Amino acid sequence: MRILVVEDEQKTAAYLKKGLSENGFVVDVAGTGEEGLHLAFSVDYDLVILDVMLPEGDGWSVISGMRAKGRQTPVFFLTARDSVPDRVRGLDLGADDYLVKPFAFSELLARVRSILRRGPARQPEILRAADLEIDLVRHKARRGGKDLDLTPKEFALLSLLIRRAGEVLSRSLIAEQVWDINFESDTNVVDVAIRRLRGKVDDPFEGKLIHTVRGVGYVFGER
Ligand code: CA
Repeated sequence: MRILVVEDEQKTAAYLKKGLSENGFVVDVAGTGEEGLHLAFSVDYDLVILDVMLPEGDGWSVISGMRAKGRQTPVFFLTARDSVPDRVRGLDLGADDYLVKPFAFSELLARVRSILRRGPARQPEILRAADLEIDLVRHKARRGGKDLDLTPKEFALLSLLIRRAGEVLSRSLIAEQVWDINFESDTNVVDVAIRRLRGKVDDPFEGKLIHTVRGVGYVFGER
């Protein structure tokens, strides 16, 4: 497995290279956006780990450049910016996951392995689970061939659930990612939104996809 790390902070780049190499990956490092884009086209990588703030073309331009020319290598964003619009932007541009700096190497490694397990045959604009289909470009969701009438927040919530399918998501994580409110806020808003979403996504259909994990949060997937 060969990984490209595009990161201008030498310390972080060296830390990633060392850690990933010790775990059996072959790692190349690029220090600028331009160099990263060049390497992403000339070498067949299994994964690109991409910093956002880079000299000579930021992370957004690297992934846009790759996707525009049909390079579908999975991309993992490393970002010091933790605002929701930035994360959404990365995911909208076709990123597979992101991690906010500072991060624990063990978490990065777990996420990297999870992306690699999904394999290269990804369809970035359409996500599917059972008979549910989400079109991230057109912002449309369908289940069993029927269009679901979702509000933008419901769509964001459903997108988060389906992207992290199988993972138990806490109310605070959901609140933070969908509403940009923090843990101390009233996470009841999450329960209300989940109830409404279930009314549209699950209630009219046979198989339920949104499951409550008592005392923790929610998990998405077929049971
Ligand atoms: Ca940087």
